[in-house]
Amino acid sequence: QQDWEARFRLPHLTDIFPDAPPIPSTFCLKMRTPIDRDFPGRYSSDEQWHGYINNNDRVLLKTIYYSSPTSAGAECIGPDCTWVEQWVHRAGPREKIYYKPEKVKAAIVTCGGLCPGLNDVIRQIVITLEIYGVKNIVGIPFGYRGFSDTELTEVPLSRKVVQNIHLSGGSLLGVSRGGPGVNDIVDSLEERGINMLFVLGGNGTHAGANAIHHECRKRQLKVSVIGVPKTIDNDILLMDKTFGFDTAVEEAQRAINSAYIEAHSAYHGIGVVKLMGRSSGFIAMHASLSSGQVDICLIPEVPFNFHGPHGVLSHLKYLLETKGSAVVCVAEGAGQNLLQKTNATDASGNIVFGDIGVYIQQETKKYFKEIGVHADVKYIDPTYMIRAVRANASDGILCTVLGQNAVHGAFAGYSGITVGLCNTHYAYLPIPEVISHPRLVDPNSRMWHRCLTSTGQPDFI
Ligand code: ATP
Ligand code: MG
Repeated sequence: QQDWEARFRLPHLTDIFPDAPPIPSTFCLKMRTPIDRDFPGRYSSDEQWHGYINNNDRVLLKTIYYSSPTSAGAECIGPDCTWVEQWVHRAGPREKIYYKPEKVKAAIVTCGGLCPGLNDVIRQIVITLEIYGVKNIVGIPFGYRGFSDTELTEVPLSRKVVQNIHLSGGSLLGVSRGGPGVNDIVDSLEERGINMLFVLGGNGTHAGANAIHHECRKRQLKVSVIGVPKTIDNDILLMDKTFGFDTAVEEAQRAINSAYIEAHSAYHGIGVVKLMGRSSGFIAMHASLSSGQVDICLIPEVPFNFHGPHGVLSHLKYLLETKGSAVVCVAEGAGQNLLQKTNATDASGNIVFGDIGVYIQQETKKYFKEIGVHADVKYIDPTYMIRAVRANASDGILCTVLGQNAVHGAFAGYSGITVGLCNTHYAYLPIPEVISHPRLVDPNSRMWHRCLTSTGQPDFI
């Protein structure tokens, strides 16, 4: 707790402003006080306003009892069955607020690639800030670039502006990669008088947010930097899921279904669908599981042979012989070892991947031609169609709660944290801990084995 307070509570804000107004009662659950703890059903008749989140509330990350270290997934118990408790801080409104709402200038920025739900989060941050009484809310256009590009001007935001933005995909503010360094961003924050910064983005954006947080501390600025993780790949550590993932899986199923219909309707048809997932195959695995139409699922975490007697191609031959058609679902980061390295990087310094979908299509065509078997191979890459759709109902709810909690975190005086869903509860997490490396599909997990059971594919080793 002490470590947490030292790292993430703004030091110069440790004393609550004596004349700060009380937090709006909207954020408080009306509760009745128990008369007697031993008789939980007995409450005093008068209702009291005290349903806030306490700073010491915790969310446990594991709620399953593993009886033995050999139980599947029991990585949190030692060989002697001792429990290693893991927890994070519970998100939500605190009873005391650390900013005077009329002194707040809040800014929102969205960086990286598009992801369903960005507009939902922007909308909810604005709405919640307004309920706190904040009048000065702006959007920084086109990611971090908006801090330095003099041709780009701040977008004033209000409930009226954001009311319907969640009805379409994309980002109202625009996104970008690359952009100015941390010093320039913090200079710009100072010039603009911004004291709450909400950063929506992936691992790169969060690394940036963390650096901005540290630079603000160094300069002793009263700025809360709060992240909301945006990764369609669902590759952030400790979180149940990130927004956009659910929508992506649902939309990916449509592409898989089209591939299936094409393959099924052609003589010896093979459909190849490439889905998002640079280092983590969650979308490919979940879309394969949910669609039930995939015969081969390939993800970055699980190496596979493509040629050779136990490779993907010989299994495709077997599938054509036995089923007449086949569907392959591949994550973009899978099988990169098969492709020629380009060494190219994007504006943010991320390595540009070779197209595994094109490789699979070309090599499959070549293989069947060589062995004299007819095969009709079609390749679908629905990436940009999926990224641009609006959030589905489940992601809409996730975005709404994440947006609200981001604002509660800032008003609680925290900085350098991000918001996430952990074990079905909303929590604040330290940025460095959740982006230290991407969350991966565990090839030994029950879920991956369920996926293999569903596709019926062998180990391609
Ligand atoms: P996506 O999941 O879409 O890739 P991302 O946030 O990882 O999202 P990037 O393009 O990698 O997207 O980064 C977004 C922004 O963060 C860019 O403007 C980039 O300059 C900045 N950034 C990336 N890595 C760092 C870093 N290590 N330190 C500071 N800023 C960074
Ligand atoms: Mg990234």
